[in-house]
Amino acid sequence: MGYVYDSENIFAKILRGEIPNNTVLETEHSLAFRDLYPQAPVHVLVIPKGPYVCYDHFAQEASEAEIVDFTRTVGKICTMEGVQAGDGPGWRLISNSGEHGVQEVPHLHVHVLGGRVLGRMLQPA
Ligand code: AMP
Repeated sequence: MGYVYDSENIFAKILRGEIPNNTVLETEHSLAFRDLYPQAPVHVLVIPKGPYVCYDHFAQEASEAEIVDFTRTVGKICTMEGVQAGDGPGWRLISNSGEHGVQEVPHLHVHVLGGRVLGRMLQPA
């Protein structure tokens, strides 16, 4: 049992600077960059710099500093991209986790999606 982190995943390579990315914001513990295959006008991925496989791994084992930094980074991205729900159009947060969540890259990431009406939350499998 437990979480096994594969340090050869593509986001680990981005964090090590081995492959390029289109950075939107970098903080002490987090990196936000544009998705290579955007599914909406705004499609930013936010990842922690630490080796966490998925959201539940991060929620259970990350430090409070990492969790605060990550959450604040998501908030900053919303205002930087102009999608915040308060005085803006709104957006959606998705974090695919594990097999049933159809997670492709095994390093925690949240998708910040917006810039158009996004439709209903789930499609039939
Ligand atoms: P998921 O299915 O939640 O694991 O999503 C992985 C996401 O990573 C997809 O939306 C891909 O388009 C995106 N992606 C894969 N490789 C890269 C990359 N090198 N740079 C930016 N986004 C990427």
